[in-house]
Amino acid sequence: LQQRRLILVSNRLPFQLLEKNGKVSLKESDGGLVSALKSFSEREEASNLFNEKWWVGSADFPQARWDKFTAKSKVKHAFEISPIFIDTKVYNKYYNGFCNATLWPLFHYFPSFVEYDENTFKAYEEVNRTFADKLAEMLRPGDILWIHDYQLFLLPQMVRERFPDATIGFFLHIPFPTFEIFRLLHRPWKEKIIRGLLGADLIGFHTNEYVQHFLKTVRMVLGFDHEFRVVNADNRLIKADLFPLGIDVQRFSTASNLPEVIEQKEQISKNFEGKKIIFSVDRLDYTKGVTHRLAGFERFLELHPEWREKVVFVMVVVPSRQIISKYNERRKLIEEQVGRINGKYSTLQWQPVLYRYSHLSFAELCALYQASDTGLITPLRDGMNLVAKEYVASRADQSGVLILSELAGAASEMGEAILVNPVDKEEVAQAILTSLNMSPADQKANMVQLQKRLLDYDVTHWVNDFLRQLDDTKQQQIAQQ
Ligand code: UDP
Repeated sequence: LQQRRLILVSNRLPFQLLEKNGKVSLKESDGGLVSALKSFSEREEASNLFNEKWWVGSADFPQARWDKFTAKSKVKHAFEISPIFIDTKVYNKYYNGFCNATLWPLFHYFPSFVEYDENTFKAYEEVNRTFADKLAEMLRPGDILWIHDYQLFLLPQMVRERFPDATIGFFLHIPFPTFEIFRLLHRPWKEKIIRGLLGADLIGFHTNEYVQHFLKTVRMVLGFDHEFRVVNADNRLIKADLFPLGIDVQRFSTASNLPEVIEQKEQISKNFEGKKIIFSVDRLDYTKGVTHRLAGFERFLELHPEWREKVVFVMVVVPSRQIISKYNERRKLIEEQVGRINGKYSTLQWQPVLYRYSHLSFAELCALYQASDTGLITPLRDGMNLVAKEYVASRADQSGVLILSELAGAASEMGEAILVNPVDKEEVAQAILTSLNMSPADQKANMVQLQKRLLDYDVTHWVNDFLRQLDDTKQQQIAQQ
């Protein structure tokens, strides 16, 4: 790869701008994609490959605050930033509507949660168009465009129409469902989404299954055939392939040396002395399987009274998408269930579920990853699930057991975890028992394998692999002409 500009595009910019007493400060967002790309861009090889790195995304702050910030701030960031300001009403229809009340539930196999509303699709088109307009202002020959996720399905084609030779990569961070699920979208939406995606040169997914679902969907919706993961659409070669997102392994494996983490970990161990700790953390989302998980834990307590008072389930739920009613209903259900289980099994000295509804700091998260004996990660569907990987990376002493849903993308790379069907409470209860009884030698044997695989394909490999394949695809197109 020669020296070029890399332009990342995602729905939201990776930070917020806060204004207090007339002073504007920047708060970096957490979350998988952001930390993945940030840790890549901080490595030396990123500067060798690209002379400029840009991040384009919508802003959740007003233009005036941005202007104030750029006038004052001299801090050099990992990326040059190009914010897009979208009218709040349109943004809400797009984000809370078509993105998260239509695409999100459908692509996670919750068809009964899907809302069909022509107006939210119009907003979706409008926002994608606004992104295309912004990119049209800034694109130069040789730029590499890397568009992320389901909020921007239409964007690759919108850019392609204006720049036929552009280099465009697209990565999907959620599952791509089977055609039988995808076909439930209205016909014009289906076609526009697939055409939109096919504007890219390379389309990346977390697992081979998602790639296969996509290729079949392309054939069923538009009739384009494929061979060896290459689609021949209108005489342009387009590649679909798998790139399982990795994490910054080092960031988690070395966190055990941070004073703040050590302190919090000691506090947790002291609070729960003599007890085993089961831990889970997820955003509040119906795809995460929190109520099924609680049912599995309850079944475990019911079947194994000998473990009562000897185990505690620390369950953290992180607020998310609070404006959507399905999410608020979920919170109520979870809290009722926690209350019921604690009401039934608590004693004067012990409460089985320690529930917290809030964000965690990095130090708190790492302390919990390290202090727990079992990581219980059981989403009903998940594109990848980074929490499972972070739990494994955090186990510096190679102890601990991961219980993982077989319906998370991560399961295809984490065969040494105890894989479970998340809706089967008997299976979850049995997995909890197995994890608590597992010998230190068996724990270590599994962790060593899991950690090795994480290191072999960490986030830097992921980024490099994707960008290299994008370059190869471009070369193949040229060779074909
Ligand atoms: N995380 C976070 N704030 C918290 C707790 C966790 O940002 O309070 C991070 C966690 O470290 C992980 C991400 O959120 O990187 C969750 O990613 P995952 O793929 O598991 O699920 P998603 O929320 O993207 O569906």
